Amino acid sequence: MKHKIDPEDLKPCAHMRTLVSAWTDGTLRGLPRWYTEAHIKGCPQCQASLPFLRSLKARFGELAEAGPAPEPLAGTRRQAVEAAWEQAEAPPAPNSGGAGS
Ligand SMILES: [Zn+2]
Repeated sequence: MKHKIDPEDLKPCAHMRTLVSAWTDGTLRGLPRWYTEAHIKGCPQCQASLPFLRSLKARFGELAEAGPAPEPLAGTRRQAVEAAWEQAEAPPAPNSGGAGS
């Protein structure tokens, strides 16, 4: 039996996704940052998600550098990250019935 990588294994905890994503961006400050760091230290799932998150962000960074738009891309990048989560959750075939695990 082949071991398939489950996208769920590459994600932070559901309630921490936005915080962990922002934390890897270095945009968190104050209490949310403290809370997120404390959670990550005690959470193997969030720890395991960090390399994946960072690789995603590196790709978005490359896209941003290649783009012509000089304005800040924080909002767009955040949307792109969330869209990437959606893609990771989507089944490979568009007509596979949508059985939600
Ligand atoms: Zn966690």
